[in-house]
Amino acid sequence: MAARPREIKLVIIGDSGVGKSSLVLRFVTQSFKPFSESTIGASFMSKVIELDGQTVKVQIWDTAGQEKYKSLAPMYYRGAAAAIVVYDITRRESFGTLQRWVSELQEKGPRDLRIMVAGNKKDLEGDRQVAAEEAEAYAESIGARYMETSAKDDMAVQDLFLSLCQQVPLVSP
Ligand code: GDP
Ligand code: MG
Repeated sequence: MAARPREIKLVIIGDSGVGKSSLVLRFVTQSFKPFSESTIGASFMSKVIELDGQTVKVQIWDTAGQEKYKSLAPMYYRGAAAAIVVYDITRRESFGTLQRWVSELQEKGPRDLRIMVAGNKKDLEGDRQVAAEEAEAYAESIGARYMETSAKDDMAVQDLFLSLCQQVPLVSP
C-alpha cells in the first residue's frame, strides 16, 4: 500500500526580506524575532509532523542570503519534494522576483516538485501592493495554490507548510 514519504525535503525561496526565515522559525518553534539577522551559510531546520496518522520528518532548507545574487546552487533544490515561494504583499517588486524563481525551479528543479505560493506580511494590510486575486491567478497559472500568511501574527503559517506537505505524492514502502 502506498504511504507518506518518511522525509520530505522542502525549500523556501523568495526575495531577501520577504520573511522566509521568519516563516520557518514560526513553523518550527512557534516564535517570532522582529530583527532576524540574515543567515550566513546554509540553514536547515526540521520538524516532525503527523499526516493522516503517519509520522513525517520535514527538512526545511532556508536560503542563506544567496537569493540576493538572483541564482541558487542546484544542490539547494536537488531532491526537494516541495517548495514554498514567498513574496511580501507590501512590496510589488518581490512578486516579480518570485516569478523568476518559479521559472528557475521549473527549468532546473525536480520534475515532481509541488509548489505553494505565499504572500507574507498579511498583518500589514494597509500597505498592500499586490491584490490577493492577482497572486491567486498567477498561482493557478502555474498549477500551484496560493496562501496569505503572517509570520509575525501567526496567520496561516502551520496551514501553509502542512497543506503543501499533504500534496507530496505517496510512495510505495
Ligand atoms: P528573509 O530575508 O526572507 O529570510 O526575511 P526575514 O525572515 O529575515 O524577515 C525580514 C524582515 O521582515 C524582518 O525584520 C522580519 O521581522 C520581518 N517580517 C517577517 N515576517 C513578517 C510578517 O509576517 N509581518 C511583518 N510585519 N514583518 C515580518
Ligand atoms: Mg533569511
